[in-house]
Amino acid sequence: MRVPCTKCGTEILEATAKANGGFCGPCARGGGFCVVCGKRVWEANKVGEYIHMNCAMKRRDEEVATTSGISWSRPNEIDWDALCDGILAATLRCFARVAEANEGRAIKDVVVAYRIGEGVRVEPCMTFFDGAYLNASLDDDSLFDDLEPFDSAITRIEENLDDDQSEEFIELLESRVPKMMEQVFSGLERSSFGLDLAEGCAKTLKEF
Ligand SMILES: [Zn+2]
Ligand SMILES: [Zn+2]
Repeated sequence: MRVPCTKCGTEILEATAKANGGFCGPCARGGGFCVVCGKRVWEANKVGEYIHMNCAMKRRDEEVATTSGISWSRPNEIDWDALCDGILAATLRCFARVAEANEGRAIKDVVVAYRIGEGVRVEPCMTFFDGAYLNASLDDDSLFDDLEPFDSAITRIEENLDDDQSEEFIELLESRVPKMMEQVFSGLERSSFGLDLAEGCAKTLKEF
């Protein structure tokens, strides 16, 4: 004799139901169902929500796309000017925060390292005259937060591509990104990176 679990509806033996207060085994052990995909999740997260890690990331991406208005999901939807402006603005803000926190410390070299493809990463790095090195992208989450709409848009695009399309997308990035990043870099140079640069300070843009 089988009866439905009172939580998830799975048909279970009456004896199991009796032993578990009406629940199937997984439900009795505290399992639930993902709020995104509806499939079984064995444990609730810290805030008591049943959601798969991947589903949580997908939901987060959708929220970011909605709030930022950057919802590109195909390569031809990329607004390269918006991407360029967004990276420039985010990187400038990051340098401004570094400048504020390091007033009066002269800087010997500045490196802007980037990777566009598998998301969007920018790392503004600098060496101070006293030899100290700073990767400002690790310093606080603000740059990451500022770039997140672009990062999740590029990630979303990449997730939707088959193998041939992936190759085409890599070619597209190779043809557009270096030029775009040079534009970002010259924008940064025009404002001296917002930093107190020592004379002869080396300024480098590089892909990683
Ligand atoms: Zn159940
Ligand atoms: Zn799920």
